[in-house]
Amino acid sequence: MTIDNLIRKNIKKMSAYSSARDEFNADESNYLFLDANENPFDSDYNRYPDPYQHQLKDAISKIKQIPKENILLGNGSDEVLDLIFRAFCEPREDEIISMPPTYGMYDVLANLNDIKSVKVPLKKGFQIDTEAVKASITSNTKLIFICSPNNPSGNLLQINNIKSILDEFDGLIVIDEAYIDFATNSSFISELNDFPNLIITQTFSKALAHAGIRVGMCFASERIISVLNKIKPPYNINQLSQKKALEVVQNYETYLFQVEIIKSERELLSKELKNIKWIHHIHPSESNFLLCEVDNANYRYEQLLSRKVVVRNRTNQHLCENCLRFTVGTPEQNQKLLHTIKQIDS
Ligand SMILES: *Cc1c(COP(=O)(O)O)cnc(C)c1O
Repeated sequence: MTIDNLIRKNIKKMSAYSSARDEFNADESNYLFLDANENPFDSDYNRYPDPYQHQLKDAISKIKQIPKENILLGNGSDEVLDLIFRAFCEPREDEIISMPPTYGMYDVLANLNDIKSVKVPLKKGFQIDTEAVKASITSNTKLIFICSPNNPSGNLLQINNIKSILDEFDGLIVIDEAYIDFATNSSFISELNDFPNLIITQTFSKALAHAGIRVGMCFASERIISVLNKIKPPYNINQLSQKKALEVVQNYETYLFQVEIIKSERELLSKELKNIKWIHHIHPSESNFLLCEVDNANYRYEQLLSRKVVVRNRTNQHLCENCLRFTVGTPEQNQKLLHTIKQIDS
């Protein structure tokens, strides 16, 4: 299979915007930069940022054990996902497959880009209905989105199901691993060599504790990365975010340590919530949140809100009737949550 056949014709034909720093980017500081119409007076940020984020990618390459050529960074993984749509999906012609209940952005981006969104619901227990997915693939199916661990259910999707789709489908498969650091399974990054049509997305927003700087990661074959590079806004990761993200990677152990705390808090919280009468079921989680089935989600949501505790009401999602999603907080925050929940325990 060749990736080239999947790229939209106009994207294949177009040439990328060539920024001043595309044509010339040197690490050495003894150049006289008079090429980009910047203000010459130093403010630490008067220069345009590196469009390819070389320093940050070198650091990410080390912690993720993957060559820099296989990495693309976006303004959040949301931008990465949008770039994937724009590079590969022909409006009013191509289709995607997603598996609700799942992350809402796949569908939003499909609508935004005028792409037909085919939904193949997860089965009970929130696992992929592999046969139904395969039956829904048409000659226009370009992308299949797999979110694992899945949001809002929190569970990992079974590897053998994912692999069986990978083996059969010759469009692109996007595995959204926003929550992979909280899971027992390791990333699909190690499978990239075997599947040139596999795209993996991760983010600085969850385990890495930097939702505010908007940095998302994309790992894929060099061909896919080069197409996405060609169409991305030239300076999509600003200088402040590149600097902060580099600090995050340099302090990786700190965040891994926080992840361990969050995972143990998740188990403690789950145990405590089992004692609450109005909470009927707590779905097993490999993420930093718990999906809980309650007696009346709308009522409990309002009760918590009136006590200034904000959770996510997922009751309208497929298989999530009367479900609330609780993000795992710090030990102190979780105690507050439990205290509030016990106050309304009736
Ligand atoms: C939170 C989340 C993201 C993160 O998106 P960013 O744009 O990187 O903040 C991606 N996918 C899923 C499933 C998420 O829940």
